[in-house]
Amino acid sequence: DEILISTRDLTKHYRIGGGLFGGPARVVRAVDGVTLDIRARETFALVGESGCGKTTLGRVMLRLQEPTSGTIRYRDTDLTDLGEGALRALRKNLQIVFQDPFASLNPRMRIEQILAEPLRSHGYGTPAEIRERCTELLEMVGLRRQYLRSYPHQFSGGQRQRIGIARALANKPDFVVCDESVSALDVSIQAQVLNLLGDLQDQLQLTYFFITHDLSVVRQFADRVGVMFLGRLVEVGTTEELFAHPQHPYTMLLMSAVPRPDPRRRGEPRPMMQGEIPSPMNLPKGCRFHTRCPFARDICRAEEPMLQTGGGPAVACHFPLEG
Ligand code: SF4
Repeated sequence: DEILISTRDLTKHYRIGGGLFGGPARVVRAVDGVTLDIRARETFALVGESGCGKTTLGRVMLRLQEPTSGTIRYRDTDLTDLGEGALRALRKNLQIVFQDPFASLNPRMRIEQILAEPLRSHGYGTPAEIRERCTELLEMVGLRRQYLRSYPHQFSGGQRQRIGIARALANKPDFVVCDESVSALDVSIQAQVLNLLGDLQDQLQLTYFFITHDLSVVRQFADRVGVMFLGRLVEVGTTEELFAHPQHPYTMLLMSAVPRPDPRRRGEPRPMMQGEIPSPMNLPKGCRFHTRCPFARDICRAEEPMLQTGGGPAVACHFPLEG
């Protein structure tokens, strides 16, 4: 399969404290060595608990935030090398849909202005052509053209998210990061927006990088899944593989928190995650998960397991679970 976006050993470290605030400066390793290939036209879901670095990874992949080290490739272009101008031009192809449609739409702008803005900034065409494209975009996400004159507050949450999607698709991108894009919506609205995203993917050949903490959404919607823990990918595989046979203990514990579709298994005892998430400022030696892992042994406290890639599911664990 054609690779659309790939990262190699990508990191984003923040320095906090020190200086004005006193105390020693500390480094937060939000993204800490992520190597990943995203295939054209797939939906790749990135899952993990809040604070694991998912959102930072999504932003760094689009260079909305600068990486600390490592590379990002989009098709034949190394994004990490690109200057401001070239990056701006390329942004047409790389878009993001945010979680909160309320916060991401300017309340003082009519929908037409909101949709026209990205078109204008990329020199789409004449005012008449821009207007026509705005209508087309609105209809594409299932809203009527009369709404072009309305303001964001006149819409429901689901409608606003549709507008957010229309805006992201204005310049015909091929890679779209969806950062918790349906998390704030009610379940029934969520399903409608997911259907819309699925239809648009087919029509427009989109590739989604779908950031979410909601595993039931992942199960419905994703082709492949990456599980992130404290800045690192700990397991990558197809949605089917990961749900049926998680190999990393963390994946298994995350999955076991999802309601089981099989009623006969609902009452079975589940293994528990122990302990607190360690701080990304003070990572434990060895496997980052060892303080919470029910299967940890001596080697786990000494040596960090690395993600093995190349064919089949990839897992960063000294003692991956059997299928
Ligand atoms: Fe658990 Fe050890 Fe695997 Fe880490 S390497 S997940 S501590 S078994």
